[in-house]
Amino acid sequence: MNLLFSLLVSLAVLSSPDGRLNVNIETSSEGFTGYSISYDNAEVMPFSRLGLKADFTDFSTLEFLGSEQKDVMVNYSLKTIKKSEVDYQAKRYILHFQNNEGAKMDIEWQLSNTDAAFRYTVQRFKERGSIRVMQELSSFSFPKGSLSWLCPQSDAMVGWKRTKPSYEEFYSLEAKVGTGSEFGHGFTFPCLFRTGSGVWVLVSETGVDGSYCGSHLSDYQDGSYSIAFPMMEENNGNGTVEPAFALPGSTPWRTLTVSPDISSIAQSTITFDLPEQKYPANCDYAPGKSTWSWILWQDASINYDDQVAFVDLASELGYPYCLVDAFWDKTIGRERIEVLSSYAASKGVNLFMWYSSSGWWNDIEQSPTDIMCDPIKRKKEMRWLRSIGVKGIKVDFFGGDKQETIRLYESILSDADDHGLMVIFHGCTLPRGWEKMYPNYVGSEAVRASENLVFNQYDCDIEAQSACLHPFIRNAVGCMEFGGTFLNKRLSRSNEMPDSKGKVRGSIRRTSDAFQLATAVVFQNPVQNFALAPNNLEDAPSQAISFMKEVPTLWDDVRCLGGYPGKWAVIARRSGDKWYIGAINAGNEGLTLEIKQIEKAVGASVTTALYTEKGSLKNSSGKEKRLVIPKDDGAVLILE
Ligand code: CA
Repeated sequence: MNLLFSLLVSLAVLSSPDGRLNVNIETSSEGFTGYSISYDNAEVMPFSRLGLKADFTDFSTLEFLGSEQKDVMVNYSLKTIKKSEVDYQAKRYILHFQNNEGAKMDIEWQLSNTDAAFRYTVQRFKERGSIRVMQELSSFSFPKGSLSWLCPQSDAMVGWKRTKPSYEEFYSLEAKVGTGSEFGHGFTFPCLFRTGSGVWVLVSETGVDGSYCGSHLSDYQDGSYSIAFPMMEENNGNGTVEPAFALPGSTPWRTLTVSPDISSIAQSTITFDLPEQKYPANCDYAPGKSTWSWILWQDASINYDDQVAFVDLASELGYPYCLVDAFWDKTIGRERIEVLSSYAASKGVNLFMWYSSSGWWNDIEQSPTDIMCDPIKRKKEMRWLRSIGVKGIKVDFFGGDKQETIRLYESILSDADDHGLMVIFHGCTLPRGWEKMYPNYVGSEAVRASENLVFNQYDCDIEAQSACLHPFIRNAVGCMEFGGTFLNKRLSRSNEMPDSKGKVRGSIRRTSDAFQLATAVVFQNPVQNFALAPNNLEDAPSQAISFMKEVPTLWDDVRCLGGYPGKWAVIARRSGDKWYIGAINAGNEGLTLEIKQIEKAVGASVTTALYTEKGSLKNSSGKEKRLVIPKDDGAVLILE
């Protein structure tokens, strides 16, 4: 029995439409306002705090004035996320509070059957028309015996050219709640927990725009994790840690996806349900598949001839895009880029161009630099990009999570839309509802992505384990531009062939071809820069290439057919009438796919099954009763 619990006074009980998820709003004996969560009457979160400290007043002890409730039913279409049509039903509760000075703040809650979210709305007070939020008290407690899957926040101004933090650290898996973070700065969103009674909780945030910073969770202190603001050192020390906004105004939503079924975590759309679109699309964006030379051929490939090879590869595969990575302004030059863009267009391919965000927050030499941070140069550049037929940009190496940096992301997106450009971010923060908010936003890295498989053998050794985390954590709350699906056995330009010095280079892929194909379904991003190379047209199994020509990157629906973070995942995605299923296994035990059960689950019949048999890719019309997938292996099924 938690002693504190017995001294709580309940102010209001909030329920999901089906009544299974309940949030109890309470006051503790110390006068703190907070909440607790239960699911089917089982405790999910004990008393956790609500409130904030403003620069002009303190909202940590609150008097409850009353509440309003209404039903929310929203339908929206969004082709860049897990499903193209979303029906969202929820109950909205607006709880009115004031503090002992008479300053007024609402705490708004919204509960769907598997998601709870809250935010603070602060009113003007006396002469105050703006607020600095000095501290957000929102906290997240878990019952004893709960486990966590967490990614630590990095130190700031460290790593490659002092570009961290960029959400690229290793996760700790199944750690006891309360285990300290690796760098002492807490954990980046999203954060996954499981209570002793088996309820999953994914904590994140959404609706973050230029009027707030990106937040994360602190280390566990006094029995809970709390909302933490960026570190002072981020962005080279420039910009404030405490966010500010105009009054009346609201903080971003803190989201909690709560379910005994891990599938609800993978299928949740809460990140997109809550925020509103911030501007209408300037044109009809068409995200899709892309090639990029940099992942396997690296910096040396940013020359005209190698780019032609990857434009030709895109054309051969039927991909609409080719991404030209760093240094192109120096090694190819703007005039030849115009020629390349025309050449690409003649082959039915359009270019994405790489930029460093640059400015005064890192030491990046990869060019172009100092354009995307400068509104005058940026607009001029974007006019040029549009004039030569470029369809998108990839902007890399941002300065962290401060409000100042979030404003830069938003400014780049807004200007890019004026010029009909889609935007991918790399070396960046987690997207927080941006798919809905900014119609030309098409993906972020914010994950230990494919480049690390090229850089480090260790990442290859644990590739399957890492991949089995993403559907339930990183990719559950937003697009993930991973840049994967390798068909090279050696992650290098020469593949298995000795180079001119007689050496075989590159880290060794541990996972099978079938595993790699499955990640094209398991990972979701509307633009996928696949890690294929021209040699794969000759040296990869032809059925693998056929699949990579066919697999979509835009999806109408998603079903998670099962999984466990870091161990296995079976993800079904629908495009039109076809279901594509990607199954991956990181566990020592074989993962058994019962074909009949899968067909029943999605209401369609298997027409193609790609899996590994005796080390090579096997293609069948799906007459098998079951497939058993060993460790580091995978399978792809197509059903109609
Ligand atoms: Ca990166």
